[in-house]
Amino acid sequence: MPVSELPRLDAIHVYAIPMRSKFRGITVREGVLVRGPGGWGEFCPFVEYDDREAAHWLATTIEQITVGWPEPLRDRIPVNCTVPAVTPERAHELVAGSGCRTAKVKVADHPDALAEDLARVEAVRSALGPAGAIRVDANAVWDVDTAIRAIREIDRAADGLEYVEQPCRTLEELAAVRRRVGVPIAADESIRRAEDPLRVAVAGAADIAVLKCTPLGGVRRALDVAAAAGLPCVISSALETSVGLAAQLALAGSLPHLDHACGLGTVTLFEGDLVTDSLRPVDGYLPVPRTSPDPDPALLEKYRHPDPDRTAWWTERFLRIWRAYGTRD
Ligand SMILES: [Mg+2]
Repeated sequence: MPVSELPRLDAIHVYAIPMRSKFRGITVREGVLVRGPGGWGEFCPFVEYDDREAAHWLATTIEQITVGWPEPLRDRIPVNCTVPAVTPERAHELVAGSGCRTAKVKVADHPDALAEDLARVEAVRSALGPAGAIRVDANAVWDVDTAIRAIREIDRAADGLEYVEQPCRTLEELAAVRRRVGVPIAADESIRRAEDPLRVAVAGAADIAVLKCTPLGGVRRALDVAAAAGLPCVISSALETSVGLAAQLALAGSLPHLDHACGLGTVTLFEGDLVTDSLRPVDGYLPVPRTSPDPDPALLEKYRHPDPDRTAWWTERFLRIWRAYGTRD
């Protein structure tokens, strides 16, 4: 469906929300909210992305503000809590206070991290109890031999891992690790484009695909990608406000099968949000929204981007990409 009409300038709001702590090198999350005929949508490709890459994010925005999302198959989504590279005491505290039954633990934060990683996952297990699930994320830093050694030790310390996310960088390395350890492997960084999940599956590189609908071009597109990959999926956020996060929850709600908690409890990383009914997990779950949430005018005002040059940059970027790519396929 081609979308020929550019949104009016008064329907575009550029926001800036401080992060509680630095995440992905970002201390302030910036982006655009836009009002369309079907409701509000979010456009927040990271600033280093070029227009071609950001056009997929725009496709997600356009789906959200025009046709909306398919009917969901479930009402709520289990989410994981996230444990950064913190002390065991802090890790215990984070998990115990989260209400989540699944914890995602950052490991391999530095080259000599293994002893700290083992102590952290032990603390997480004691906070979760035997029924909880622990997954770890190495963010692609291990080589194959290091990964195999580390995964075996961490699996023991955790008393069983749900999976290891992106232990190494390449598909060949992931496949090599997967052949030699019993712990399931999830691909995250290996999946950034629509064709990637299929490549991961064909290469035998992973048991689980971590998908984000925002960079894949919308809920329907991501559902097609998930079906083509044929792997169990975990839906993960792209660090959106609750407006954009609603699309990710719509995807998680529409997947034919959802066997794992999703990484969607990320609004808690922000100092604030743009909607009154913020999508913060309660008792380890987030609701699946039927429609796009409306931002609160007072919150839009509170988090209006303070820098006019930056506001102009976002507005120009949004309109430029809309003009170049603003059609849905
Ligand atoms: Mg990851």
